[in-house]
Amino acid sequence: MAGNAGMENLITLVNRLQDVATRSGVAMKMDLPQIAVVGGQSAGKSSVLENFVGRDFLPRGSGIVTRRPLILQLVNNEYGKFLHCSNKKFSDFDEIRKEIEQETDRVIGGEGISNVPINLSIFSPKVLNLTLVDLPGLTKVPIGNQPKDIESQIRNMIIEFISKESCLILAVTPANTDLANSDALKLAKEVDPKGTRTIGVITKLDLMDEGTNARDILENRLLPLRRGYVGVVNRSQKAIDDNKEIVAAIDAEKQFFKCHEEYKHLADKLGTPYLQKILNQQLSSHIHETLPALRKKLLDQMKIFEKNMKLEDMNLNESAMKTKTMIFLFDQVKAVFSNSIGCYESDDIGKSFNGGYKIYWLIHKRVRSGMFTPDMAFEAVAKEQIALLKEPAKNCISQVVSKLQELLSDCTQLMDKYPRLREIVDEKLMLYVRECEEKCQEQLSALLEYELSYINTKHIDFVGLEGARSLMADNNMSDEEEGYNRKTQSNNTTNILIGSYMTIVTKTVQDLVAKTVMCLIIKKIKNFIMLELLPQLLTEENIFTLMELCEGEKNKRDDSIRMYNATKDALKILKEVSSSISKTRDTVTEETGHTVTGETEETRETFNIKNKLKSLFHY
Ligand code: GDP
Ligand code: MG
Repeated sequence: MAGNAGMENLITLVNRLQDVATRSGVAMKMDLPQIAVVGGQSAGKSSVLENFVGRDFLPRGSGIVTRRPLILQLVNNEYGKFLHCSNKKFSDFDEIRKEIEQETDRVIGGEGISNVPINLSIFSPKVLNLTLVDLPGLTKVPIGNQPKDIESQIRNMIIEFISKESCLILAVTPANTDLANSDALKLAKEVDPKGTRTIGVITKLDLMDEGTNARDILENRLLPLRRGYVGVVNRSQKAIDDNKEIVAAIDAEKQFFKCHEEYKHLADKLGTPYLQKILNQQLSSHIHETLPALRKKLLDQMKIFEKNMKLEDMNLNESAMKTKTMIFLFDQVKAVFSNSIGCYESDDIGKSFNGGYKIYWLIHKRVRSGMFTPDMAFEAVAKEQIALLKEPAKNCISQVVSKLQELLSDCTQLMDKYPRLREIVDEKLMLYVRECEEKCQEQLSALLEYELSYINTKHIDFVGLEGARSLMADNNMSDEEEGYNRKTQSNNTTNILIGSYMTIVTKTVQDLVAKTVMCLIIKKIKNFIMLELLPQLLTEENIFTLMELCEGEKNKRDDSIRMYNATKDALKILKEVSSSISKTRDTVTEETGHTVTGETEETRETFNIKNKLKSLFHY
């Protein structure tokens, strides 16, 4: 970008910041403000913008040349592209100008205007990602075939663009007209009454009548603007027609101010390069404003990384750290296991529906035989019935065990990051559970053997033969009358006896199954997890093998470490960037200080406060 060194610095800066953000994975939004030019017809708006880009590509001349807004996007890349023909790349700036002219005519024949913008992107490694807006000039009287309301049409269009708070307004007024009547300034004041985003630009200082000058204006005394005025001399129509290079024009402009009696004392605050400097300063300020947020994001990210890395990554190679992590994992497994199995031991049974509840429910589910009453002696029938309890009792235990296995696997999932650890722990647990189950089944078989080996007709709760008969007599008086035979009657007595005896046995078995399962499976496993498993592992296995992270976690950890370092670098770079921007801004603040009447004190004060803040937050 010819003649715009400040811009080059900014480009480097923004690129660095972008790079920093990308490398540390932090999303950075840095929408730079749009810069729009406002002014009367032929005031020199397009010329000012063109100078800003440093290339000759905008259609210019007398009359309304700019008849549609041109949204010019500068993108830090390689070529030029229009939105309306986005697959064509323009590398020749003369062609870009022709395309703007043709595209303007395509939409509006004749001499009208249109608020439908032309979108042009200039991709160049030498520009900043920035949007410039060229607007039609304000006009008073329609001429030729122009629509009658052309004045308000243009006005509305301009207002639409410059109302945005993020839009910097370059209010362009030619020096050879009356500043007091400047439509550009009036319009700017409407949308920006405090003048925080309006910069006055005085063009055509070379075309003033002999004996007149714009010194009062440029010294910001005539119609003071908060940000003051910058005088420029653009290329005349003749210079453009003669293809005068922008660089040469800028040299000529410099000479003009240096040699002019009324301007030479101000020469370094005038001219295109100075205007660019001011704009660069604006952009720097804006960038600077985005820095604290970016810094905060980076710091937050650092904290997260540090928190995550505390356990696993900081001293990864130390076996002590690995042991610590392993103990930590075991504590978690223990906690989760006790928690879910815990409802056995609490009074809140049934309130929680975790694995423990399910087990509780299983061991208390009624164990029963499919009662039937064959025509046999009581004792033989009782034995048959008892034998029928074997299967359901066995099933109950198997169901408890498979539920318990599910629960354990939920717990060991906590060790997923360490596949070897989980594998060994799972293996040991399964083995142990199987041992417990075997013992429990043995006990259960023994229990049923006891029941089978002796039918205790002396049991305190047993109805007995006498009891059964009197029950029969009470209930079936009428049966006899209706001619039931003795056999049925005896069979009914056996029924009552079996019913009574089986109630006793079922209760006992039910009760003892629950207690056996608790004693030989649940308590044992809990004890194993709480006390035995970890010491076993620590003595039998190698901690480095056990605590080796899985591939995914290893990658995640490596990524984390990379990002952590990038974030650290980013913060370092941010500090440098901050201070380099501060330097530019402070110099410009001091330089502009004298032209901005009445603002000097406030500027100093904010300047001091900012410095204090800076030292407080070290940015
Ligand atoms: P716009 O209508 O506001 O966009 O104005 P342009 O940039 O198209 O300029 C209108 C005409 O004024 C062109 O012929 C320019 O060459 C000429 N012009 C613009 N600025 C200056 C200046 O500072 N000095 C001289 N001599 N001519 C200028
Ligand atoms: Mg123009």
